[in-house]
Amino acid sequence: MAKVGFIGLGNMGGPMVRNLIKAGHSLKVYDLSEDAINFAVQAGAMATKSVKEASSEVDFVVTMVPVGSNVREIFLEDGILAAAAPGTVMIDSSTIDVGSAQAVHEAAKSAGFNMIDAPVSGGVIGADAGTLTFMCGGDKDSFEKAKPILQGMGKNIVHCGSGGLGQATKICNNMLAGINALAAAEAMTMGERLGVSPDILYEVISTSTGRSYIFETSNPMPDVCSTSPANNKFKPGFMAKLMLKDLRLSQAAAQDAKTSTPLGAAATAAFQQLIDSGFGDLDTSSIIKVIKPESK
Ligand code: NAD
Repeated sequence: MAKVGFIGLGNMGGPMVRNLIKAGHSLKVYDLSEDAINFAVQAGAMATKSVKEASSEVDFVVTMVPVGSNVREIFLEDGILAAAAPGTVMIDSSTIDVGSAQAVHEAAKSAGFNMIDAPVSGGVIGADAGTLTFMCGGDKDSFEKAKPILQGMGKNIVHCGSGGLGQATKICNNMLAGINALAAAEAMTMGERLGVSPDILYEVISTSTGRSYIFETSNPMPDVCSTSPANNKFKPGFMAKLMLKDLRLSQAAAQDAKTSTPLGAAATAAFQQLIDSGFGDLDTSSIIKVIKPESK
């Protein structure tokens, strides 16, 4: 079993650490929040006082922090790359911009380390259950070395290509999920206003060509399916503000790739409107409030 340094113990990192401990690995952890560290210690992890301490004398370092600037800081600014022993394998599971992922890959490679970007889908439920999907970017050797650790936290572990292409895959998926959430809200609201009951709309569309995973599991109308946060006043789930973050990443990536994403742009504008109205902490399905403001 391996020695793992884990940095970023929030909604996702906390349960990921618990699953690595359950899988028999020994964990050294660090977070800016003492509460988050204490929670991991209760699960059997060893607390450290800095990024450098967490990433020294370990076989693997895993990071799970909010945004690209956090990842650049903890890797590049007298952090992980300065402290890690030769042979340490690095895994960044945060969802960040492709440019930051590639910059950190380059620096890790120059310093002689194996590294992968490995953002996840599956949310807090998947992190808890150890069923995350990992979308991995990096060379094949790094991917194979990281895989046994990822298997302690997830089920689907996919090599998407070179450094940064895990992030590219992740934002394509999340752009589509954002578009599908907005599309489901539009269709359900229009159908209802035309006089069709939401139950009938759900029954027909979820077995017809307009269906999507989002439509079927996070439908924005309450009580048409058992799994939707709309049944519980849009309690997340996946917060709308995180969806906006990912949609913005998709739009930056689209610009870099010189590719047109009119639906991605429309979904980004709609989520921006939702967040500006103060609903950022609600589930993504609350996007229906932009179409049907009286939704509760
Ligand atoms: P979170 O805000 O709950 O946790 C992030 C943690 O990182 C916090 O505890 C914070 O204190 C810590 N942190 C930030 N900067 C740090 C630093 N410099 N040193 C040490 N610790 C630091 O976020 P989360 O929901 O766990 O998400 C983490 C990443 O996973 C994000 O990139 C997010 O987009 C992605 N993600 C989240 C979900 C989800 O459903 N929450 C799903 C898929 C992917």
